[in-house]
Amino acid sequence: MADTAPKPAPATPAPRISFVSLGCPKALVDSERIVTRLRAEGYELTKTHQGADLVVVNTCGFLDSAKAESLHAIGEALAENGKVVVTGCMGAEPEEIRAVHPGVLAITGPQQYESVLAAVHEAVPPAHDPFLDLVPAEGVKLTPRHYAYLKISEGCSNRCTFCIIPKLRGDLVSRPAGDVLREAERLVKAGVKELLVISQDTSAYGVDLRYATSPWGDREVAARFLDLAGALGDLGAWVRLHYVYPYPHVDAVMALMAAGKVLPYIDIPFQHASPTVLKRMKRPASQEKTLSRIQAWRAAVPDLTLRSTFIVGFPGETEAEFEELLAFLEDAEIDRAGCFKFEPVRGADANGLEGAVADEVKAERYDRFMRTQQKVSARRLKRKVGTRQSVIIDTVTPDGGIGRTKGDAPEIDGTVKVFARRPLRVGEIATVKIEAAGPYDLSGTAVGF
Ligand code: SF4
Repeated sequence: MADTAPKPAPATPAPRISFVSLGCPKALVDSERIVTRLRAEGYELTKTHQGADLVVVNTCGFLDSAKAESLHAIGEALAENGKVVVTGCMGAEPEEIRAVHPGVLAITGPQQYESVLAAVHEAVPPAHDPFLDLVPAEGVKLTPRHYAYLKISEGCSNRCTFCIIPKLRGDLVSRPAGDVLREAERLVKAGVKELLVISQDTSAYGVDLRYATSPWGDREVAARFLDLAGALGDLGAWVRLHYVYPYPHVDAVMALMAAGKVLPYIDIPFQHASPTVLKRMKRPASQEKTLSRIQAWRAAVPDLTLRSTFIVGFPGETEAEFEELLAFLEDAEIDRAGCFKFEPVRGADANGLEGAVADEVKAERYDRFMRTQQKVSARRLKRKVGTRQSVIIDTVTPDGGIGRTKGDAPEIDGTVKVFARRPLRVGEIATVKIEAAGPYDLSGTAVGF
């Protein structure tokens, strides 16, 4: 008998987008928002430019080297595909992009989600298909499923002289606490085990909202750093605080760390330790007796890990000022540190300062900085040998896995090589007896699951 049932009309193939995400975790969160919207509209993501209907490049414009990388990525997308939409920090300077790549279809700036989507719609209209419109409730994450970045604000109201982020992204705009907490709750329900709180200035969270409360569940939560950190700590996931400036109220968060609500980890981009350099940098909260406060934090939270970033070779930096920085690394026992050689980013006020430091001097200071930091890191990690640490597993290997302790953020800090007698799962938290320590990484055996 002939089959007379009506056949469904063939679905229009979903347009395919190849997405390149460059830059910092904040840019990554922007990418996730754009990608989530695209998936919700039925676009498909592909991993290669060839065969895609369009390429979107989310650029970084923080340093000249980042701009060069962005321009290179745009060039590659044009060569391999030809249809390219550019967004992100470098999009704030469209003429710089057009001068090198006149063929890009559209350029939009940071956080201009609507404009990026409009440019995509124009180049490749969405194919409506209700089945393709389904996206996971937590959105589409570009990070592995067990950790996620949680952006609590946009922009920055500080005016550090080496930085053009406020020019690119504007002043601080905080999200209401209820919004942030609902997103965090969704992520945790979807299996996220670690929330990485990010912004340009996390401890200034809510200043622009005058700490207004907003509803979350059956209670009101104030848009205040401490209140938000406490409420996030109630969700049962690891909560890691990034980009915290040492304003006096940061001391209070140590109680949350001591109580196990928030990870004993704090990422404070100090940038320097010499008061005169910090003054020339116009750094926020740089006068707050940093060293004695760090000692008090360590007394309250003995396993506290301090991560930071520093700039060497800032205009006018003398040998004595640089030595102050090295002494600070030792005295404050900065566990993890990134170091950048000063680069005069176009448009930054620091470029007008006198006393440019020669490239050879910058390189020599960078090496000394890294050597000193490596010694401190090795010393701090050695103390962990023989202890038991909770380790979150990022990758599985034939004899165990690679993970991180509470003192290690993904991508930027160290790792733990874990040997286990049973297969580990990505995202599981194992108790690991630490057996060896190198300058940056640890290794040990899983003794509890
Ligand atoms: S705090 Fe300073 S370095 Fe950080 S984004 Fe704001 S202006 Fe730039």
